[in-house]
Amino acid sequence: MKIERIDVYAVRGPRREAVRSGTTGATPVTASEFGVIRLVTADGCEGLGEISITYPRIGFTLCHAARRLIVPRLLGQDATRLPELLALIDTILAGELSAPYLRAAFEIALLDWTGRQHGVPVWRLLGGKARERVPLAWGIYQNPPDEMARAAEEGLAAGFHAIKLKVGRALADDVAAVRAVAAAIGPGIPLRLDANQAWTSVPAASHAMRALAAEARVAWFEQPLARTNLQGMRLLRQQAIAPVMADESLQTLHDAYEVARAEAADVFNVYICEAGGIQAAAQIFAFAAALGIPCILGSQAEMGIGTAAAAHLGVAVPNLTEAWETFGPLRYVKELVRPATRIEHGYLHPAGGPGLGVTLDEDVLAEWTVGE
Ligand SMILES: [Mg+2]
Repeated sequence: MKIERIDVYAVRGPRREAVRSGTTGATPVTASEFGVIRLVTADGCEGLGEISITYPRIGFTLCHAARRLIVPRLLGQDATRLPELLALIDTILAGELSAPYLRAAFEIALLDWTGRQHGVPVWRLLGGKARERVPLAWGIYQNPPDEMARAAEEGLAAGFHAIKLKVGRALADDVAAVRAVAAAIGPGIPLRLDANQAWTSVPAASHAMRALAAEARVAWFEQPLARTNLQGMRLLRQQAIAPVMADESLQTLHDAYEVARAEAADVFNVYICEAGGIQAAAQIFAFAAALGIPCILGSQAEMGIGTAAAAHLGVAVPNLTEAWETFGPLRYVKELVRPATRIEHGYLHPAGGPGLGVTLDEDVLAEWTVGE
């Protein structure tokens, strides 16, 4: 079945709230600059994919690469030969660091297409359902402590199963935020504290982690050190302050192997877009299962297509032990897909119907599409 057309839309999706990353000093992000892939075969069957990347802000650059490097090579190819097409994309991108984001967008589109071709949802292509819905955590932004405490309370009231916040600012600010949030939500809910590589040495990280762990029950410290500092992460684990999660250190299956080999993490944070697709993320989950390491699926604030992919993986993956962070569509002022992403009482549900089960809202697509 020949691929006849592939449209790549550069989209700018306005956020409900500006995102301040405490660690990069970058200007607040008020919109996500992502890409949407629409792949159509000769019989008119479509598949949708999403280029999702928040940091660095290269979503539009990846749209250019998709149009100029990948689309011309995929046109006329047989859409049923998914492994060959992914190998071709890998060859074209030749190990470029951002390659998995593009690979993932096309893989999602091709799996959506495959599901639609056969009239089955993507979760069936992944082996079937292990559960009906995916428990979610809620992420709160860096704001004054009382606002963060209120946001955490609202998250729990909405049914979310865990609370995540960013740390890595001045320690006094982090302590005040964690203290306020912990007091607001009580001891029953452990906090996920994400440092985004902020601490510059093992002693600095250790000092901050001890101070924060004294304020709250900590589920884990996420990426306390630079992504390449696996030895430092191992040393922090040995101090047993709280579990250590690898995020930036771990994108692909090969990274998962390196993190595991270095004994650098107690928990993995996996992303479909960073792994290189739904199947690649599932492979990391399988690898982690073999090692007895818990994993979650994290969020790049994916829009409706990327989150639909997460929902299908989430109901199919055998080892889901901790709430995922795939609440991306709630970050935007509008939904890009129909039906709207179903997040209820802290659970993400896959849409019914074949493939991912979602179609583009053409009005929102037109509104968000920019000439990049
Ligand atoms: Mg993180």
